[in-house]
Amino acid sequence: MAERSTLLIADLHLSPDRPDITQAFLHFLAGTARDADALYILGDLFEVWIGDDNPEPLLQQVATALHSLSATGVPLYFCHGNRDFLLKQRYAQKAGMQLLAPHTVVDLYGVPTLLMHGDSLCTLDLGYQKFRQWWDQPWWQWLILHTPLWYRQHLGRKARRVSASDKMAKSSSIMDVTPDEVPKVLMAHQVQHLIHGHTHRPAVHELQLPDGRPAWRYVLGDWYQQSAYLEVRPSGWQLHFAALPTLTES
Ligand code: MN
Repeated sequence: MAERSTLLIADLHLSPDRPDITQAFLHFLAGTARDADALYILGDLFEVWIGDDNPEPLLQQVATALHSLSATGVPLYFCHGNRDFLLKQRYAQKAGMQLLAPHTVVDLYGVPTLLMHGDSLCTLDLGYQKFRQWWDQPWWQWLILHTPLWYRQHLGRKARRVSASDKMAKSSSIMDVTPDEVPKVLMAHQVQHLIHGHTHRPAVHELQLPDGRPAWRYVLGDWYQQSAYLEVRPSGWQLHFAALPTLTES
């Protein structure tokens, strides 16, 4: 019998503009993910989220694929990213996903591990942190989600333009995790393992906690140039990458 495994992904940034990523993801859900004990999606599954009532066909297609995976008995967990933090229970239910708290400790075959999207670790990105403080307010989210769909579609397009020009302007150290934040958050949750996405810099970092114990930070890869997932097995953890499909015009 094959060894058990739990899979973790993040930062797919699914959108109608990138059918190659969507196809790779649907393939992943119908293949690799079927044998997993669980699939964790650690945020930014979608490039932008303007509300669960968005009629965009891609969202329905992805919900159907996720739901059929969960129906085979693979539990699905979703932690919000900074792009899709307005994703609510209605869509989660349609997709068969359970919503996770922003910081969640799970037991991965005996290893207590902290899971998060990772944006909260990028404390030097002050502009973003300010934006986040505002958008995290439940009353603000409620207000936005009760504006007409056309208005939210307009906001979504605007947000994408701003974030594209922002990324080019901000230095790469600001966009990365603040090193001091990592031991802090690990100590606060009393764990030695952290898995997150957001920075699009897949890697395994070993560090030392203030009390001298070793700790590990696994950073998930994005799906812009390739597909990427972390496979956690009782015998070891491994990042996997694969090429995206080349789509031919039909
Ligand atoms: Mn992100």
